[in-house]
Amino acid sequence: MDITIEQVRNSIRNIPDFPKEGIQFKDVSTAFKDKRIFKYIVSEIRNHYAGCGITKVIGIESRGFILGSTLAGELHAGFIPIRKPGKLPAEIYAQAYDLEYGSDSLEIHTDALEKDDIVLIHDDLLATGGTVNAAIDLVKRFGVSGIYVNFFVELDFLKGIERINKEVPVWSLIHF
Ligand code: AMP
Repeated sequence: MDITIEQVRNSIRNIPDFPKEGIQFKDVSTAFKDKRIFKYIVSEIRNHYAGCGITKVIGIESRGFILGSTLAGELHAGFIPIRKPGKLPAEIYAQAYDLEYGSDSLEIHTDALEKDDIVLIHDDLLATGGTVNAAIDLVKRFGVSGIYVNFFVELDFLKGIERINKEVPVWSLIHF
């Protein structure tokens, strides 16, 4: 594939002051709309986790669903949604968290994972780390065999990585 990582980086649109002043919003839709770039992103992330024995990919609502479900297919794994409050219909675990802009809560079905699962948690972007930490806390309740975390984009200057438990391997394709 003749795509470069710099092309992928440049394809992400920056929107200043969205959804509120001071936030540099990284719009990943401009990367995903290009078929060659989308394919490159999926194959790079799939290759990174191909030997890890992933049995379930978790996508965090809602932009984490986009690559998350495709990665599940590529890795021959199941797909599990972690959702915003009130969306999942069956019995749930819930975990509150702080956002770069505001606060919220995440939920997962109590029958989503088994102890022998090796889980890849995916979200589009790591900012402060509040969202993914809530997701990790939810997954830990199941006593799964392994947890990996992946982001398409990581905002290095917010140092979200420092808030994530050091025992959880984290890898991001693009850094700003
Ligand atoms: P955080 O919990 O601070 O790591 O925020 C990560 C979540 O919020 C992800 O689900 C992102 O989609 C979203 N998010 C936070 N900051 C940004 C940003 N600057 N640009 C795009 N999405 C963001």
